[in-house]
Amino acid sequence: MFPHLQKKRSTARYIALNLEGLPEITLIPSRGRRKTISLCIHDNGRITLRFPARLGIGRATDFIRSKTKWLEKKLLAFRSNSQVQETDDFYEGKPIPYLGRYFPLSWNLPQEGGAAGRQLVFTGEKFILPAHLKGSAEELFLSWYKKAASDVLMPTVTHYSALMHAVPKNIRISSARSRWGSCSAKDTLSFSWRIAFLPQDIIDYIVVHELAHLTHKNHSRAFWDTVGNFIHGYRTKNKWLRNYRCRGPAWKIKKN
Ligand SMILES: [Zn+2]
Repeated sequence: MFPHLQKKRSTARYIALNLEGLPEITLIPSRGRRKTISLCIHDNGRITLRFPARLGIGRATDFIRSKTKWLEKKLLAFRSNSQVQETDDFYEGKPIPYLGRYFPLSWNLPQEGGAAGRQLVFTGEKFILPAHLKGSAEELFLSWYKKAASDVLMPTVTHYSALMHAVPKNIRISSARSRWGSCSAKDTLSFSWRIAFLPQDIIDYIVVHELAHLTHKNHSRAFWDTVGNFIHGYRTKNKWLRNYRCRGPAWKIKKN
């Protein structure tokens, strides 16, 4: 079968290649002095192929075809590895994201006692979870993050709302996985609790972005001008966010 090729953008240097039985592969033709082909499966499961542009897409595709068996084997191993990680999500030392940094998870010793013996505690240096609560770690982290998100969002929204003269009707903390924030037609702003993973300057950008939607219900030039008035370098922050992959937990949170 002829591979389905599509250029992501007309100016893009990357080409998405879809071959039967394989996930999308990103072809990166190099116009430099590259002489070798490299096929790579990244930590996030994405596959890229870098190759000298003069080889052409046809030969790059042939190369991938000749490696299909190898790729399938690697992908299988990759998937079973990530499953193992998911089932043992809360191991000692696991990096837990909070406000742009990672803090290790620790199981407290029984003699530590006090509040740390009964609940999930963040000390400023680590997260402590009592061993007997391991079974409910997911729920404990979920409610911890919802409060953390609210604690960082409320002052941020208040601050920028006053500066921008933009007042939301309501603010909600959501469990959205696919977006950080949204603005409804009725001017309610929703923010995913996962926003607590991010650094403050990125949270500022997300908040200003949604507040600007109170005035501009689109991504017009006027909208971006408003964002730019309050967030310097918002383009860089937007790009950073698009490339962001949390290397910590991808908790399978139930809908709630
Ligand atoms: Zn938007």
